[in-house]
Amino acid sequence: MDAEIIAVGSELLTPERIDTNSLWLTAQLNELGIEVVAKMVIGDDRRRLAEAVRAAWERSPLLLVTGGLGPTEDDVTREAVADALGRELVFQPEILAAIEERFRRAGRVMAEINRRQAYVIQGAEVLPNGVGTAPGQWIREQRRAVVLLPGPPGELKPMFTDQVRPRLRALGPPLAIRTLTFRVAGIAESDLDQRIAPIYKRYADLATTVLAAPGDIQVHLRARCEEEAKAQSLVEEAGRQIEAVLGDRIYSNGEPMEVVLGRLLAERRATVAVAESCTGGLLAQRITSVPGSSAYFVGGFLVYTDALKSALAGVPQHLLREHGAVSEPVARALAEGTRARTAATYALAVTGVAGPGGGTESTPVGTVFIALAGSEGALARKFRFLGDRERVRAFAAQTAMDMLRRQLLGLPQLPGVAPS
Ligand code: AMP
Ligand code: MG
Repeated sequence: MDAEIIAVGSELLTPERIDTNSLWLTAQLNELGIEVVAKMVIGDDRRRLAEAVRAAWERSPLLLVTGGLGPTEDDVTREAVADALGRELVFQPEILAAIEERFRRAGRVMAEINRRQAYVIQGAEVLPNGVGTAPGQWIREQRRAVVLLPGPPGELKPMFTDQVRPRLRALGPPLAIRTLTFRVAGIAESDLDQRIAPIYKRYADLATTVLAAPGDIQVHLRARCEEEAKAQSLVEEAGRQIEAVLGDRIYSNGEPMEVVLGRLLAERRATVAVAESCTGGLLAQRITSVPGSSAYFVGGFLVYTDALKSALAGVPQHLLREHGAVSEPVARALAEGTRARTAATYALAVTGVAGPGGGTESTPVGTVFIALAGSEGALARKFRFLGDRERVRAFAAQTAMDMLRRQLLGLPQLPGVAPS
């Protein structure tokens, strides 16, 4: 079943507040096999809200409206939904009594405006609110439903769990959703999509999303079927074909690169040190973001200037003079020197031009050399990463980790760009 969510509240249209209810609701609905196909945020405006409700109700069999159920004049959800559905609002004395009782228990007298919360859309089932004053409403038409929920997350969540969930189950047989994620490094997004599109396009019940970050592409497969087994076999079948096409560029089924790398190092009782220039510590930051990384991360050198590249990582000065800091020989020497001085099993070195300034004709912005030193010497690759400073740095850190992952798994290194 498809659902839509409308979050009501003018504050949600300002930069100060964000609609978190719909995120939470989406997760809950997905668990029930219900897919959210559209979301809207509408301010406290009766006419606009009624229009939005009408449009959503024409498109989708399930509509959840959150917020705007309070007692004040700006809370117009009841009226707007009644307008949209062409139903009357009916005063329910029992609701008023319950609200009055709530105030009495708190030692207060109910304000007159709270009477507004006792109006219910004709034919709606009232969803009592155990936490606040605004009751929710459930309006069903055959196998379709509109649900009104209070805005405060602390009221919405228990109401959904205790009262809406069971009603949704009764609305129709739930669909099973199965997902499979691949994380991929060392391939461009367009190249990846070109390879896998012929596979995922073959499956009508499979939704595929490709999310690209620098050097890190996520492929999400999502199957929605009546039977669980069918959904499972669908993602597995498509997944196997995608695996065959992308091969060892797939590095995990969801875990970030630093976690995968950390596990590989720990399993082999190997250690790593880093020497960073243009990434300025980003590589070390990512490796050490994993709890327990002290088991395999030795430390490293932050070597921005030529002087420190020599003093800390032992790069011979003549290499810097002859080739420049952003060069293959210097990257290699950085890695070898760092490995020797830290006694780590492996050392990764990164030197490049992150930009926006500093590029030359022979070494344009985005040129990065990454070297990996191990017991059998050092290898270096030249890369040309496209994008702004942050992207170039992110690409460099990710690619460096991927080089070590490949080394640890005995995989061939990717070519990078041809040295010029
Ligand atoms: P309302 O039910 O519109 O009176 O909303 C009451 C309060 O709930 C608001 O002031 C917000 O703090 C919160 N709220 C309303 N809608 C949302 C939403 N979609 N996501 C998160 N918080 C919300
Ligand atoms: Mg509001």
